[in-house]
Amino acid sequence: MSVQPQTPDLDNDSMEDRLYTVKYEDPGDSHLDVKVEDVCMQCETNDCVRVCPANVWREGDDGVPHIAYENCLECSSCRFACEYDNVVWTYPERGAGMTFKHG
Ligand code: SF4
Ligand code: SF4
Repeated sequence: MSVQPQTPDLDNDSMEDRLYTVKYEDPGDSHLDVKVEDVCMQCETNDCVRVCPANVWREGDDGVPHIAYENCLECSSCRFACEYDNVVWTYPERGAGMTFKHG
């Protein structure tokens, strides 16, 4: 008897449903940061917040974004979106980070 692979119905799934198909292992330390906080305080675009599909970057009261690194999909969008090149971006330590459940 053959086993059919299960794939999510991407046409109907919400973003939250799709994110639920990602498995995370917390590396215990953030692989994301800002280089210079003062630059963020002057920044008016907050592109890091706007582009992140996983709501990792969130606006802070003082202008410096909060970073919920545990939910990062490692897509690199924030790294290239910041027009001030103010994002510190590395991969999580080996073995940690995200894994797609459906390959
Ligand atoms: S886009 Fe860059 S400068 Fe602006 S808040 Fe985000 S990291 Fe800071
Ligand atoms: S790499 Fe992608 S998912 Fe991770 S914080 Fe940046 S924009 Fe968000």
